Amino acid sequence: VNQTQRKPDWLRVKLPVGKEYAQVRNLVDTHKLHTICESGNCPNMGECWGAGTATFMILGNICTRSCSFCAVATGRPLAVDMDEPGRVANSVKLMQVKHCVITSVDRDDLKDGGSIIWAETINAIRRESPETTLETLLPDFRGIWENLERVLETRPEVVSHNLETVRRLTKEVRIQAKYDRSLECLRHISQAGLRTKSGIMLGLGETEEDVVEAMNDLYEAGVHILTLGQYLQPTRSHHPVIDWIHPDQFNKYKQIGLDMGFRYVESGPLVRSSYHAEKHLFEM
Ligand code: SF4
Ligand code: SF4
Repeated sequence: VNQTQRKPDWLRVKLPVGKEYAQVRNLVDTHKLHTICESGNCPNMGECWGAGTATFMILGNICTRSCSFCAVATGRPLAVDMDEPGRVANSVKLMQVKHCVITSVDRDDLKDGGSIIWAETINAIRRESPETTLETLLPDFRGIWENLERVLETRPEVVSHNLETVRRLTKEVRIQAKYDRSLECLRHISQAGLRTKSGIMLGLGETEEDVVEAMNDLYEAGVHILTLGQYLQPTRSHHPVIDWIHPDQFNKYKQIGLDMGFRYVESGPLVRSSYHAEKHLFEM
């Protein structure tokens, strides 16, 4: 696909306007928070922020990894901000978020992998907003499972870790990650008895066979909830879009996933891990 080509019509989105949107904008700015919505140039900001929901990104906005699809800056992160859990919890309360989705950058520079701040953030939200359900999109903690366990002990209602792409493209797409380590991470989550979620981006050059293989692997690892969405290139220096996957193909994958036994499959061009996340919780 020629990158200068217009995006297909099915990827057109609403413009970010409205009162709720302004309110989220204001909270994020005044509490000096980061969101993956902004850091990841998410096309759904108009819709999600307009509905009063956002996905917070903790542990700073500089990542120690450099995945070729990701718009988050890579580099040496700033020191851990011990006030961050409190600020996030405060904002969640002010926003009256019913189902809160949190993610983080990867902190391969830290011995605990950032798991202490993760656990404190979840506990702080639980204290301030006991009714709010939580969804945590976690890193692989470099396979140091005691760090993962520290977060899982806080028992979020949904725990996700994204496989991001198929086995064949993993090295090219997420150089510091490993396909099998991600599957192992998901197995840990599932074996802890938690609702387990994962996602794959499509359009990076994978074949249908690759995708079905990845779906099978995720199912075998104990994943209950699967998200499939179209990859969009954040800047010209990121991985190119190889294909625009047609909505009919997304529907086909959804059916394949349901037949495979996933409890919930969200599959469509604009689907992101955190898109309509509350549905995965309440419809299960
Ligand atoms: Fe933010 Fe997720 Fe919505 Fe995108 S889909 S705007 S990342 S909450
Ligand atoms: Fe982006 Fe996550 Fe990769 Fe860091 S680890 S570059 S935040 S996808």
